[in-house]
Amino acid sequence: METRADLLIVGAGMVGSALALALQDSGLEILVLDGGPLSVKPFDPQSAFEPRVSALSAASQRILDRLNVWDGIAARRASPYREMQVWDGSGTGQVHFSAASVHADVLGHIVENRVIQEALLERLHDSDIGLLANARLEQMRRSGDDWLLTLADGRTLRAPLVIAADGANSAVRRLTGCATREWDYLHHAIVTSVRTADSHQHTAWQRFTEEGPLAFLPLEREGEHWCSIVWSVTPTEAQRLMALGDDEFCRDLEKAFEGRLGTVLSADPRLCVPLRQRHAKRYVAEGLALIGDAAHTIHPLAGQGVNLGFLDAAVLAEVLLHAASRGERLADVRVLSRFERRRMPHNLALMAAMEGLERLFQADPLPLRWLRNTGLKWVDNLPEAKAMFVRQALGLSGDLPELARL
Ligand SMILES: Cc1cc2nc3c(=O)[nH]c(=O)nc-3n(C[C@H](O)[C@H](O)[C@H](O)COP(=O)(O)OP(=O)(O)OC[C@H]3O[C@@H](n4cnc5c(N)ncnc54)[C@H](O)[C@@H]3O)c2cc1C
Repeated sequence: METRADLLIVGAGMVGSALALALQDSGLEILVLDGGPLSVKPFDPQSAFEPRVSALSAASQRILDRLNVWDGIAARRASPYREMQVWDGSGTGQVHFSAASVHADVLGHIVENRVIQEALLERLHDSDIGLLANARLEQMRRSGDDWLLTLADGRTLRAPLVIAADGANSAVRRLTGCATREWDYLHHAIVTSVRTADSHQHTAWQRFTEEGPLAFLPLEREGEHWCSIVWSVTPTEAQRLMALGDDEFCRDLEKAFEGRLGTVLSADPRLCVPLRQRHAKRYVAEGLALIGDAAHTIHPLAGQGVNLGFLDAAVLAEVLLHAASRGERLADVRVLSRFERRRMPHNLALMAAMEGLERLFQADPLPLRWLRNTGLKWVDNLPEAKAMFVRQALGLSGDLPELARL
């Protein structure tokens, strides 16, 4: 049996779900499919933290608020951060950013990915949007003016427009032959949650070490001080750190972090994620668009991955709604290119900046060390430059979609 829809979204992760919600009043028949169960469990505020978290920018918060999702996130668990402290572990350079410098309350929120995901799914289940759980895409081909998708259980789906929101290893991207530019960072990220003796002071901390960046991001739990850590190291060092017992790991971590939050008292189970940069050469083709990690993956040092994805979703929804109001054919590659033109330069610029930062901080030659230390101190003394960085971190500059505007 074949199911038909106007629009198929493959992947009900954070980005695919946000796109579906942004299009819920479009009048289009939308079907979202995902290989996972798409269930929403009751949230226990005392439960252990999920190791994967996102630093959500003000722009993402605004988008999620407009989609009626933010309340569901805040009711579960979200930790605001008001300051950001960045320093060079092999020098004296440091820079401090604050929300107050741009008259904002917060720089962003650290939220567990499952919290964002479940708050989005809750809204999707309440909507008229069709949801197919445990539906893994296996095959995809053109059939006339449509795409014909075959799932692992043999079901087939047909639609003139397919959106790939199926993450970094996108099946849609592979099955449709979309070319990517990609390379290994030769780094793995170790992620976990740790309890510290001192309070995180609602600050996102980032130390650049010779091995790679180490971030301590504030988490909320009644009466205790918790942080989510993202520690980027070489694969050999990652292997060593993953093999350590909890106590030894905490000691190594505390040392690498210069004990800024006192003793690291305990650590949850660790996850090790190989870091790879990927960028699709095109985000669109006839009847096809790539969004979120399916289109681009970026080094987590800037905490921007899903923020870029939410902006992709909001811009694509805006382009499709505008085209629909003018009676245009949504699958037309000329319509979809409007989305690509608005998002690709922004994503590429941020990826290039992250790449540059990563290289600068890993470089050991004395002139480069001098440059980054001097640079950090210089930026720290320039309120205007800092305010520009803060506005960028808040996601309040550039070509913003309606959903992200004030
Ligand atoms: C260590 C680390 C730290 C990070 N920290 C941050 C941060 O602080 N801030 C930030 O903004 N970003 C961060 N990111 C990036 C962020 O996690 C990603 O950008 C985000 O998860 C991408 O969301 P997505 O919805 O595009 O993809 P995903 O979350 O990967 O969702 C893809 C969905 O597609 C489904 N799917 C996959 N294949 C199929 C198939 N064949 N058929 C059907 N369904 C399928 C999956 O089940 C899943 O639900 C970090 C990443 C890493 C690795």
